[in-house]
Amino acid sequence: MQINFSPITRRTLIFSFFSGMMALFVRSMDASETSAEIWTLTNEEWKKKLSPEAFSVLRKEGTERPFTSSLNDEKRDGIFYCAGCDLALFSSKTKFNSGTGWPSFWDHLPKAIDTKLDFKLIVPRTEYHCSRCGGHQGHVFPDGPKPTGKRFCNNGIALTFKPD
Ligand SMILES: [Zn+2]
Repeated sequence: MQINFSPITRRTLIFSFFSGMMALFVRSMDASETSAEIWTLTNEEWKKKLSPEAFSVLRKEGTERPFTSSLNDEKRDGIFYCAGCDLALFSSKTKFNSGTGWPSFWDHLPKAIDTKLDFKLIVPRTEYHCSRCGGHQGHVFPDGPKPTGKRFCNNGIALTFKPD
């Protein structure tokens, strides 16, 4: 069976298809530019979305073994995103070689992360996580290079990288 649309109907259909796509596009642009919208997925939903290793780090505050992430040696210009929700967290401009075996940055992008105190190793450490999905990223220490003097010690598996 063949459906013959009149030219006007066809034009209307094409137009509504494209305006629908534009609306989707604009909405996703909004989402990547603001961290106001908070993600609240259940553990089961996160397990479906993430690998077991990424789930352990992002949702259970695990720590990957040092020198295991390929992002450790990533030196290209680009942006590092949360592996949980794709929020842009770090610029390659603030990445440095800390020698620790974990990707390290001396600053994060504006509004990208939130912090909290963590007593897991008895000595308090400042844990930080993605401001949108709450995914654990790493710990921040006061022994980084200038200009901030901070060292954001990040799990590579909690990040994705897109070169410029
Ligand atoms: Zn996130």
